[in-house]
Amino acid sequence: MTPPATDTRPPFRIGQGYDLHRLEPLPPAGQGRPLILGGVPLEHDKGPVSHSDGDALLHALTDAILGALALPDIGQLFPDTDPRWKDASSDLFLLEALALAQNAGYRLSNLDATVILERPKLSPLKDRIRRNLARLIGIDESLVNVKAKTHEKVDAVGENRAIEVHAVVLMTLA
Ligand code: MG
Repeated sequence: MTPPATDTRPPFRIGQGYDLHRLEPLPPAGQGRPLILGGVPLEHDKGPVSHSDGDALLHALTDAILGALALPDIGQLFPDTDPRWKDASSDLFLLEALALAQNAGYRLSNLDATVILERPKLSPLKDRIRRNLARLIGIDESLVNVKAKTHEKVDAVGENRAIEVHAVVLMTLA
């Protein structure tokens, strides 16, 4: 749809998001919060310390969308002091950010994310994560990219004590 001549909204808006979660050893017998990334559970001996489900990829992506639109950030919209978001699935945050974008007239055109974690190797899971993100956003998988790096064994991320995600999105006037 061509915007009317008086529409001053830019056709494109770019957004960047970042998140980090501390990782702590999981108690035995399947207890504790498992590590989940882009909605996909990972085999790991540690889990994220978090109020919600601690999905750092969904959090960084949500903040990238909100940032592109100059909206309040994820911590302002979903404060970790609010019992409503305790153990919440982070799908909720992403879908709310997309709904706010839609209200502003924008849709997500493509996304590129970099996950930094020491283990496990993400390559066997990348396509599953991409597919799940594409499904949640409602775009083709070819528009969703997830890259993975280690932190070369240095600092907290490299010592397997934290996970870090950077995300960039392009929002297009719908
Ligand atoms: Mg977070």
